[in-house]
Amino acid sequence: MKIINSLLAICLFTLPAFAQVTHFECGTPPSADTERLMANLEAIPTLEARSGVQYLPVTMTLLANDDGSGLITEDAALDGFCRLNQDFEDLGIQFYLRDGFRYVYDTDFYLINGPGSNNPNSLKIPNTINIFVSEVFTQGTAGSCSGILGFYSPANDYVAIDKCTMDGESFALSHELGHFFSLPHTFFGWENENYNASQPTPEFVNGVRVEYADESNCSIAADRICDTPPDYNFGLGAPGCNYTGNAVDPAGNPVDPDEMNFMGYFFNCPSHHFSSDQGDVIHADIADRTFVSGSPATATVDDAANLTYPIGGEITPSNVTLTWDAVPGATTYLVELNRIASFSPSFVVQRTVTNTNSLVLTGLLTNTNYHWRVRPFNETYTCTDYGAGASFKTDDSVSVEQIEGVESLNVYPNPSNGTEEVFLEVTTSEIIEAEVKLYDTQGKLIREFNHQFNSSSNVAKIETATLAQGAYIIAIQTENGTAHQRIFITR
Ligand SMILES: [Zn+2]
Repeated sequence: MKIINSLLAICLFTLPAFAQVTHFECGTPPSADTERLMANLEAIPTLEARSGVQYLPVTMTLLANDDGSGLITEDAALDGFCRLNQDFEDLGIQFYLRDGFRYVYDTDFYLINGPGSNNPNSLKIPNTINIFVSEVFTQGTAGSCSGILGFYSPANDYVAIDKCTMDGESFALSHELGHFFSLPHTFFGWENENYNASQPTPEFVNGVRVEYADESNCSIAADRICDTPPDYNFGLGAPGCNYTGNAVDPAGNPVDPDEMNFMGYFFNCPSHHFSSDQGDVIHADIADRTFVSGSPATATVDDAANLTYPIGGEITPSNVTLTWDAVPGATTYLVELNRIASFSPSFVVQRTVTNTNSLVLTGLLTNTNYHWRVRPFNETYTCTDYGAGASFKTDDSVSVEQIEGVESLNVYPNPSNGTEEVFLEVTTSEIIEAEVKLYDTQGKLIREFNHQFNSSSNVAKIETATLAQGAYIIAIQTENGTAHQRIFITR
């Protein structure tokens, strides 16, 4: 089993864009957590007054097959996480991605609930909210994006969400988090039962007391939550976010469900909410849980990433360091490298998550146009987008391999923060007398010195303390030619 738990994992696989799923089926078992719900309802009067925002740690595990196929795009995962935080904002609750995205490439786990699949319970990180993003299997349905697309496991206390419904549009993840915090469906009891207008409405359905419209039995019926009106699972199949079916309760009084409740099944609603009592249950559940402590970055990230190099079709070697200005509030960046300017998902070369404002690319094709763009975010705030893209073209005639006797040239650290020396490492097949020159990007000579590189690995030091922030070119001039390497000083 290979687990990559890193902000620097590279996705080498492109995925087709998924069709947007406008509804989902929830696989959380009914009656999952009635005991915990009752305990939470009982604890509500004893809850301490809250102020400020509660930040809760999430371990978001992105599952893929052994070869990396099937992985959700980080974009969709960021959009889905953004939506989750927007949905819980009114409750004073925000989630943060503890340790960034966690990647598990293991076919044995990939198809959640699939025949022979391993239970992701063994992958959980304790005392965090574990969310597994992958494909959820449903018996009897063909293909992906059908059947059950999410569930909360009360036995193992994790949430699974199908990547089909992990985006900025779906409330599925917030619904499943509602289950995580012990909330039942507003239509509890009617999960596998259709309301039948031609029959008298029963007092019990599947052993659960049916809720009256006048709230007279609300604390012992259906979801036991009194400020959510009766709902007999009217949402699934309802054409829009408005119930007009004229159903009546067991006493014959008309029922009017809360279509926009997160714990219902109405889709295509302009927005959703938790009721006040549901919010109290969620807070009681949080108070009863233990979470790892943390101090996540929580700033809003408003600015787009301004790309600094290479841009405007600049010619670069096939090994190149992308740089951009640090974005206020951002701690992490999603970098996309694409073959075409429209950034079509079909032409993604790689998407990489990094926590610095630069990225080293190696082994690019030569004489090839590339386009790249950057999406900033932090652990808590992911409601961001890519900034404008930039392009460059690789051309190895600018690299060092053209000089006879020089086998490789490496500059590190690059970028440099300007407080330490930069090392120029040259591997040669013979003794080479060279002039080392440092230019600024206007071509002005800043510094020069002679250095003899011996017929093995060799290092020359370049002082950077007096250099202003910016890009520089190191030139190594020998009798056989000149090699250039670009370095960056960031302060
Ligand atoms: Zn549900």
